[in-house]
Amino acid sequence: MFCGCLTAFGAQPNSAVCPVCLGLPGSLPVANRAAIEYTIRIGLALNCSIATWCRFARKNYFYPDMPKDFQISQYDEPLCTDGWLYVTVEGQSFRVGIERVHLEEDTGKSLHVGGATGRIHGADYSLVDYNRAGIPLVEVVTKPVPDTGALAPDVARAYVTELRDLLRALDVSDVRMEEGSLRCDVNTSLAPRGSAEWGTRTETKNVNSLRSVERAVRFEIERQAAVLDAGRRVVQETRHFHEDHGNTTSGRSKEEAQDYRYFPEPDLVPVAPDAGWVEEIRASLPELPAARRARLQAEWGLSDQDMTWLTNAGALELVSQTVAAGATPAEARKWWLGELARHANALGVELADLPITPGQVARVSELVRAGTLNDQLARQVFEGMLAGEGEPDAIIEARGVAIVTDDSALNEAVDAAIAANPDVAAKIRDGKTAAAGALVGEVMKATRGRADATRVRELILTRLA
Ligand SMILES: [Zn+2]
Repeated sequence: MFCGCLTAFGAQPNSAVCPVCLGLPGSLPVANRAAIEYTIRIGLALNCSIATWCRFARKNYFYPDMPKDFQISQYDEPLCTDGWLYVTVEGQSFRVGIERVHLEEDTGKSLHVGGATGRIHGADYSLVDYNRAGIPLVEVVTKPVPDTGALAPDVARAYVTELRDLLRALDVSDVRMEEGSLRCDVNTSLAPRGSAEWGTRTETKNVNSLRSVERAVRFEIERQAAVLDAGRRVVQETRHFHEDHGNTTSGRSKEEAQDYRYFPEPDLVPVAPDAGWVEEIRASLPELPAARRARLQAEWGLSDQDMTWLTNAGALELVSQTVAAGATPAEARKWWLGELARHANALGVELADLPITPGQVARVSELVRAGTLNDQLARQVFEGMLAGEGEPDAIIEARGVAIVTDDSALNEAVDAAIAANPDVAAKIRDGKTAAAGALVGEVMKATRGRADATRVRELILTRLA
């Protein structure tokens, strides 16, 4: 944030550091213009007001993975304030108010070695990696979201999902939760229905996946309800979420702002984004996820329900790219939500992680449309791709799965089927054409599914006319 160190994930520990982010004596911070621009992008996309003048603040506290023993953050003068984002859960729209979007520097990472849990308790020793210290960190703080009731866990998850998609569209972060480039602290409080006052809240940390967001809120609702039902008080505190058990445990009691002894950072000049620059950034915003979904839904002629399925299955991007590669929306949806979703499920992976590209799905769709493949054969081609056998055309060639269009080859199989079933043939000759189905089945078997059933039926009826 205030130096030029690399931000890549997974670098050799303590290799992406310099005197500034290590807080060495005599080093001075300089604000990163790109980080400020990205924060403004986020603020504008979240419908926030952008400050015309604001200062960084020094937040004083000791932490072993924070080399300066203070963090440069923003306190009472955030860069962006007062925005909103809408999310839809079970057909209901919820407005999530955005309190503020501010910029700070990240801390380093402690690694506790030995012990079963990876936490400091029971560890033999601890190591510190300062690579992450000083990386620009944007904090998006929501207002309380009222009246979510039993849907609160789903609304929380939907909000983080929508925010993640928005940040990805803005191209300001790779938003990989598993690598910590999108992290989430979840605040939960209960109040009697209809009450205008919020109950005491808890803040849950270490919530590092979309599923965990939902689970953490669900757990806290149940825990706090049990506390209140027993006539006790909810303690305002920081809690930790445990992925393995899906529960939260008490951390430290929540600090008050005055504990940090904030004061304006004396080593930095104020940030005063020029109005013209902010308007330039606004004009350069890409199409945002909600608008994009609405446009695609209209273009593809889908119902709200279909669109929800598509989005929830994580198939929106894949279908969109498959359509761009030449398939019709119906074809793209059919393969991604049908056959390929089935494979992804069986393999326990996300659709996007299958070794099949939108371009390949478009090619298979094209071959089905052209009559080279039928659905049955197309499935075999997808199986070939999953087995690493290469491109659709190569698999068709290698496996010999294309539809036989040559009538003379089909007639051979038709004649063989008639010869093997004289009684069926006799019925058809007598005008009972419904009996032809049995012969069609024989021919399909003989050609290993590579014949066009309609054409085979025509040939049989012609032969026996
Ligand atoms: Zn540095």
